[in-house]
Amino acid sequence: MIDQLKRAYNFNAGPSALPLDVLKKAQEELIDFRGTGMSVMELSHRSAAYEEVHNQAIALLKELLSIPEGYEVLFLQGGASLQFSMIPMNFLNPEQKAAYIMTGSWSEKAFAEAKLFGNPYQAASTKESQYRRIPQFDELQFNADDAYVHLTSNNTIFGTQWRDFPDTGEVPLFGDMSSDILSRPFDVSKFAFIYAGAQKNLGPSGVTVVIARKDLLEKANTNIPTMLKYSTHAKNNSLYNTPPTFGIYMLGEVLNWVKGIGGIHEIEKRNEEKAKLIYDVIDQSNGFYIGHAEQNSRSLMNITFRVKDEELEKKFLAEAKSEGFIGVNGHRSVGGCRASTYNAVPHETCKAFSEFMVHFQQTNQ
Ligand SMILES: *Cc1c(COP(=O)(O)O)cnc(C)c1O
Repeated sequence: MIDQLKRAYNFNAGPSALPLDVLKKAQEELIDFRGTGMSVMELSHRSAAYEEVHNQAIALLKELLSIPEGYEVLFLQGGASLQFSMIPMNFLNPEQKAAYIMTGSWSEKAFAEAKLFGNPYQAASTKESQYRRIPQFDELQFNADDAYVHLTSNNTIFGTQWRDFPDTGEVPLFGDMSSDILSRPFDVSKFAFIYAGAQKNLGPSGVTVVIARKDLLEKANTNIPTMLKYSTHAKNNSLYNTPPTFGIYMLGEVLNWVKGIGGIHEIEKRNEEKAKLIYDVIDQSNGFYIGHAEQNSRSLMNITFRVKDEELEKKFLAEAKSEGFIGVNGHRSVGGCRASTYNAVPHETCKAFSEFMVHFQQTNQ
């Protein structure tokens, strides 16, 4: 608790809060990693000590997400943004179609990259409603011969999240889970391919996690650069070239932390409680705070809202800042307010913010 007081109320959207216990452990081990006399950053990526870190992180991710047999876990670089390009480069041919479900800015970016390689089209879009909602399953239109269906599981900027995922049958389902991976249990087997930049729920920036079905990787295009082929990384256990070793070490420690507090079900419970603290204030504010997302599409990770008029909103953001709440401004593209309540954001941080919101309303309405 004492330590907590020195830590910021961090609602940054990404990079974002890391568990204090993980930071402390990293600090403890920084100079002499487990008796090697070297920092983990100074180890060869071919050494036994590093390999253990690497393989343990893969094993823990498989365990925590209950990843079935037949999937590869890869650690890549270039962020989720490089995945927007690598996916169509590997899996979409010029004459082929791919179905993109448009639920926000990140879906748009992914879609734009796919156009460079093939014929992506929109399987559904909620843009006309300012991306306030996730489409219903019966709104999705895709074809049996599409290369894949692509969705964004949590829309970091608009604050919406899929509750459940569609069954796409024989068409491989691809998911950008950058901002909600590991926040709740879900059925990995519905997906052929999952990717996530680490810097929201998994660790520091610099590592991108890919979880992909092996049979899919085997069918990928081959006429592309070595480093951009998934099969290169799969064949080499993500050690084809030098991986971001420190980031992978931190990711492994974040996974250890999740396991230590009780795993993915406990994380989900905590995330629901944290988000509820803030959504309840919005819902009980009689229109003083206006949530952006429709109720049944609300994200447990990014809570987006406006204050009822623009002047008050400016005042709200300024006061939030001076009270020590970091990162509450909405994304530069949409404005408003956003509290990102990722796995490592403590309950107390959300409680303090919800109390600040109540107090601000009482003194300003
Ligand atoms: C943050 C984010 C990205 C971009 O990630 P980078 O690692 O910065 O490339 C992509 N998709 C979603 C859903 C995100 O939240």
